[in-house]
Amino acid sequence: MTRLVLASNNAHKIAEINGLLEGAFEVISLRDTGITEEIPEPYDTFEENALAKANYVYERTGLMTFSEDSGLIVPVLNGAPGVFSARYAGEPRSDERNTEKLLQELKGNTDRHAYYQTTICLVGSGAPAYFKGICEGDIATAPSGSGGFGYDPVFIPKGYDQTFGQLPAEVKKAVSHRAKAMAQFVGFIKQGL
Ligand code: IMP
Repeated sequence: MTRLVLASNNAHKIAEINGLLEGAFEVISLRDTGITEEIPEPYDTFEENALAKANYVYERTGLMTFSEDSGLIVPVLNGAPGVFSARYAGEPRSDERNTEKLLQELKGNTDRHAYYQTTICLVGSGAPAYFKGICEGDIATAPSGSGGFGYDPVFIPKGYDQTFGQLPAEVKKAVSHRAKAMAQFVGFIKQGL
């Protein structure tokens, strides 16, 4: 069976993707390749960071690798937190402090449009391939619900009037940026690369 590396150690993501691939490929984690160090993500676009992560693993293992880079984009804040989503309020990383900072930055602002983006990059012997998914929505004025992670307690997806923190997990699974990017990626892989 062809093995694919996901440049991450998130067991939940790996199990989910293995399920979607229906046994056609086997996805293994970064740890499975013997890489234990944190891979740098020094760039200011999702595409460059995703490419850097996948390349890092491919160059060391020779195994076809894909990576994922995601974040929240708020146009009225000039795209922030963007590629800095995980560490918007600084280190140590905290979803709560990040969300609080976002609400502070948007205080009094009526334009609360935002979107999540996921970029997947696949690297092998040929040219890198990219897959992108977007989930549109608005930022609430206060956090609600405890589902999901990151900015989910303040993110109201388009077409709903509750946050991802409040909505059932199935809703997020169906409409999320990650689900859309992953569906494209899986379609591509299943076509036989
Ligand atoms: P990652 O690239 O998937 O690790 O995402 C980077 C950061 O973007 C996370 O730490 C979150 O702050 C934010 N983020 C990405 N996807 C989501 C999501 O689905 N919900 C909430 N926050 C997200």
